[in-house]
Amino acid sequence: MRSPGLQRCVRFGMVGGGAGSFIGPVHRTAAEFDGQIRLVAGAFSSDAGRSREAGAHYGVSPDRAYASYAEMFAAERGRDDAIDFVAIVTPNHLHLPIARAALDQGFHVLSDKPATADLAEARALRDRVRHSGRLYGLTYTYTGYGLVREARTICARGDLGKIRKVVVEYSQGWLAERIEATGQRQAAWRSDPAQAGIGGCSGDIGVHAFNLLEFVTGQRVTELAAQLSSVVPGRLLDDDCNVLLRLGSGAPGVLVASQVAAGERNGLTLRVYGERGGLSWSHDEPNRLTLSALDGDTRILHGARNAPVLGDVARAAFRLPLGHPEGYVEAFANIYRDFAALVRAGDAGQSQRSLVPSIDEGVRGMAFVDAAVRSSRARSAWVTVDGS
Ligand code: NAD
Repeated sequence: MRSPGLQRCVRFGMVGGGAGSFIGPVHRTAAEFDGQIRLVAGAFSSDAGRSREAGAHYGVSPDRAYASYAEMFAAERGRDDAIDFVAIVTPNHLHLPIARAALDQGFHVLSDKPATADLAEARALRDRVRHSGRLYGLTYTYTGYGLVREARTICARGDLGKIRKVVVEYSQGWLAERIEATGQRQAAWRSDPAQAGIGGCSGDIGVHAFNLLEFVTGQRVTELAAQLSSVVPGRLLDDDCNVLLRLGSGAPGVLVASQVAAGERNGLTLRVYGERGGLSWSHDEPNRLTLSALDGDTRILHGARNAPVLGDVARAAFRLPLGHPEGYVEAFANIYRDFAALVRAGDAGQSQRSLVPSIDEGVRGMAFVDAAVRSSRARSAWVTVDGS
């Protein structure tokens, strides 16, 4: 029996995340970070043997390391200690079929981005989510950072005045050479339209940048003009994106995303400028948020659970006191913790507001990719971002 006030452990199964995969192990670590969620099942690979091996590695009971996600959903449905939700960490083209199957079998879904392979799929998934009555969350990782949440609060409170300009840049260099031709696994599926979807760099990291901009400013991008390029010869999808944006308020913005920016690692930076000042956040130093005033003075907010100047939402996203850096795993863990809270609230017949990105943000991400591809094909014409 649980002590009064002790929260029950939320259980999940993972699809993907087998040996050699990138983000699956991060999900597992983040999910279990606060001791509120446990990985108890999985279909970790499309190969039954590899799935079993991964299950052993993760400490999952052998009878719950399944040969396929269909087998997992069917078997878990019949258990008293069934999984509550499914984490999807496979290549993009599988996000829709796995999410659909999970929802149909009564499981909540926490999927990695992009929501689906294209906009039509994202809209179909949104319908399915609404119809299912189950929860659907999306791990747009950067929304989990405490200071990104503080930046959102600052914009919502109007501290910057009316927002006049937004610049978001996400630069990586790991695809500066055609490493997909060497069989590098993460590059191979990301540059294959059948597995990645209609966007290359735009769908892989452009959606993060786009979501970060909308999350922090609280505004929607209504129109854009894009130039997408496949800079590396022979590459089938875009690897570089230069996009002009117009926000709902009419304010202009710029989104730059590249995976051929030689030497760049994971350079995500957001700058927002309003009538009274600006703010800047960079993934290189995620525990700092820089505020700039009209007179050129700058002020740096440091992230921590006891940082006196931060709002409650941001402070709650930190676990450590000032001077103890937190990062990627903690940001992921915040999304998991928030999702677990939603699951528990659902158990209690309650709904609650949450910062976990939903299928609506998933549709918006795919609307961004769709618009960017359309615009680029039309010689960078201005097009509507249709997230309806
Ligand atoms: P990866 O290639 O490293 O791993 C994919 C995993 O999926 C592998 O273990 C593979 O065996 C498994 N898989 C493939 N088909 C399967 C099937 N039918 N059943 C079960 N498992 C199957 O890919 P990755 O880099 O980890 O990316 C996975 C997803 O996570 C992608 O959608 C990507 O966009 C997203 N991602 C998100 C972030 C983030 O910051 N949120 C970072 C990296 C990747």
